[in-house]
Amino acid sequence: MIIKEEFEIKNYTTYKIGGKVKRVYFPETQSEFTELLREKTDAIVLGSCSNILFSSDGYDGDVILTTELKQYEIRGTHVYASAGVKGPLLAQKTAEAGLSGFEFMIGFPGSVGGDICMNAGAHGQTISDKLIQVCLFDKESKEVVYKKKEELDFSYRHSLLQGGRYILIHAEFELEKAQAQDINALIERNKEFRKNIQPSLANPNAGSVFKNPENDSAGRLLDKAGVKSFDLPRARVWKNHANFIVNKGDATSEDILTLMVMMYNAVKNQYTIELKPEIIFIGNKTKKEEELWNIMSH
Ligand SMILES: Cc1cc2nc3c(=O)[nH]c(=O)nc-3n(C[C@H](O)[C@H](O)[C@H](O)COP(=O)(O)OP(=O)(O)OC[C@H]3O[C@@H](n4cnc5c(N)ncnc54)[C@H](O)[C@@H]3O)c2cc1C
Repeated sequence: MIIKEEFEIKNYTTYKIGGKVKRVYFPETQSEFTELLREKTDAIVLGSCSNILFSSDGYDGDVILTTELKQYEIRGTHVYASAGVKGPLLAQKTAEAGLSGFEFMIGFPGSVGGDICMNAGAHGQTISDKLIQVCLFDKESKEVVYKKKEELDFSYRHSLLQGGRYILIHAEFELEKAQAQDINALIERNKEFRKNIQPSLANPNAGSVFKNPENDSAGRLLDKAGVKSFDLPRARVWKNHANFIVNKGDATSEDILTLMVMMYNAVKNQYTIELKPEIIFIGNKTKKEEELWNIMSH
């Protein structure tokens, strides 16, 4: 297994932000992964780092990246995938196998572990829709356990995995058979929709910054509050989608948090709605960053 010390994590994150991490592990098999979890109970587990803001100040601890846990298998209508398998790859491979249910995954780079933790979704589909069961590492008992979808407490961008006790090792899904042309048409529609509205990864971002409040859209509220014009020297709000922040090149985690608070305040002042961050802050927070984050976490 590759282990890196004092590892600059920035290029592994879709924001292209993040300082040095004391130690980063890249397990390659599920047994390596579980052994490591048993040993390093405090390690932070990350997948594609596409929903996180990693501190520019780094992290003085252990991080496990699942990027090398790439095993997957399609057997009939069942799909078995390790934590690190990327959503877009699964969308493509299941489409080739004539299976429908993962078309929404085509447009964002999440891993199976991150997607299940976040209950990722788009275009009316979510990762939990077709989930059967998961294999988890339980940090309390230090044992591997299996749980059915019904036991995972899924709701909008929420799952049991966010409690921090369980780490996803692999998952089993059951998709539906469909005509290849219908699956491919849906994939193309999803791609086209994103192309017109959202920044590509060439403009470093981490997807939606805030969660949708109940019965509303964060993007709509932010747009009405005028945030599309918010433009800092190193980070700005995306012109075609008010819920995306783009790193202009050398932004720091403090720049992103500063912009987030400006956006948060704009909606709060206009609508008295307090948006909740969807992106997760990882690593050491400076005093200023702590203050900024606290403003948004009442
Ligand atoms: C351009 C772009 C578009 C996006 N569009 C969407 C969208 O349409 N819908 C959507 O839902 N999201 C979207 N996102 C956000 C992001 O891709 C998803 O939230 C995705 O599910 C995160 O997966 P990840 O592997 O990157 O997780 P990470 O960012 O690495 O981690 C996110 C959380 O999951 C936890 N985690 C990761 N792996 C595991 C594991 N094995 N076990 C337990 N916990 C784990 C981490 O600890 C962390 O708390 C978008 C992002 C980008 C950059």
